Parts: sequence; C-alpha cells; structure tokens
Amino acid sequence: MIYLLGRSTSNFPAWARLCGDDMKHSGALVLFSGGQDSTTCLAWALDRFEHVETVGFDYGQRHRVELDCRETLRNAMADLNPAWGARLGEDHTVELGAIAQVAQSALTQDVAIEMAEDGLPNTFVPGRNLIFLAFAAALAYRRGLKHIVGGMCETDFSGYPDCRDDTVKAMQVALNLGMNQRFVLETPLMWIDKAQTWRLAETLGGHALVDLIQQETHTCYVGERGAPHAWGHGCGVCPACQLRADGFARYAAAKSV
Ligand code: ZN
Repeated sequence: MIYLLGRSTSNFPAWARLCGDDMKHSGALVLFSGGQDSTTCLAWALDRFEHVETVGFDYGQRHRVELDCRETLRNAMADLNPAWGARLGEDHTVELGAIAQVAQSALTQDVAIEMAEDGLPNTFVPGRNLIFLAFAAALAYRRGLKHIVGGMCETDFSGYPDCRDDTVKAMQVALNLGMNQRFVLETPLMWIDKAQTWRLAETLGGHALVDLIQQETHTCYVGERGAPHAWGHGCGVCPACQLRADGFARYAAAKSV
C-alpha cells in the first residue's frame, strides 16, 4: 500500500514507502557495536519504534571480536520476541579505518591500557562518538530514519568527553542544522550506571535477554573472549571488563536481597 500519493516515492527505502509518512518518522537507527550497552539500546529501540535498523563501525579496533557478535545477537533478539523480529530491519557496517591512522589509542594499537597524563585512559579515541554520530546521521538521512540511538553514558563514562550529555545535545543541533533535518539523538543509558543497565535489559526482555547479553555480547577492550565469567566474556582486568563485572555484581546482589 503506497500512502505517499502525488509525489515520487523512489527516493525512500522500501520500509518507509510501505509505512507512509507517519510511520517513517518513527524509524530508528541504533549504533550497534555488539557490546552490552549497545545491545541494551537495541532492545530499548525495538520496544518503542516501529522500524529499527542497526549500524556498526569497523575502525581497526582491537576488540573487533565484538563486530562478529552482532549478527548472532540480532538473530537471537528477533527470536526472543516476535514483535521485535518484525521491527528489526537492515544492518549496516561502515568502514572507518582512518580513525586508527590518527587516533594513537590503546583501542587500536597493541600497547598496555593505562591512565594518561590528562586523566583519560589511553583507550581514548579523540571525538570518536562525534565521528560515529555524523556517519550515523548521514545513513539515517538516506534511510529515512528520525531517531538515532547510542549508548553514550555520563555515569560510568571513564571521563570520555564525547560521551557527555551536552556533547550529544550539541551534536544533535549541529547535525540538524547541517542536514536540515529533525533528528532526535536518543541516549537511554545517559544517566544510569552499569547495574541499572543490566536491570533495564531485564525489564525490556526478561532473564532471556540478560542471559543473551551475558553470553553473546563483547565489551573487553583487548578483545579477549576466553572462558565466561558470571558477567560474561573478557580479560577481567581492562577498564571495560572492570566496569561490566562491577555492574553485574551490584545487579546480582540487589536481586538476591
Ligand atoms: Zn577486558
């Protein structure tokens, strides 16, 4: 059924042509890396938007293993809830190898992860989320998607300035001016900590989703998969593993009292 009478529909993706203008504006693009946070964001988006697409960025990160988790996670989430399966649309991968050329970060180079003199961990890739959001918005523009969903968080953010709420809000203004759009940048994890992120997953998809995130997502900065811990896979000592393990411990402790 074509609702967009009297105008060419050839520039709109198939899902938007089928849904018409109103439904088109309820579409979302999720920045989906295959980690705990972005998987929880994907469940959050599937719970409230009629059509959800995903994008992953390949920038030579040491934890590229997480990109391999993406398809498994998408398929499992579609199976978990038939309504989610009906809403889940295309997956996109964008190559951003140039980031590794300029970043000099422990995320893209085989050096020890430690704190730098500026107080930031040397995993910091300057402006990484700004780059991701700009590419996501260009893709959302082409796909006719209004909402762009990311797992940026100020609560457990290791001091990364591009995870701050003000940064994301400023980027929303810049993207809407620069592309003449009304994108909404959604950050459902912005004000919650890692324990609350586990709880949000439970609220959205029950224990089945928590188990899926535990077993199939990847967060570890050094890309170690290895034997599973209670909180999932990872080296257990890098900052990302420590945050994840600590959050899961507090989530599990709150459940047992
Ligand atoms: Zn780790």
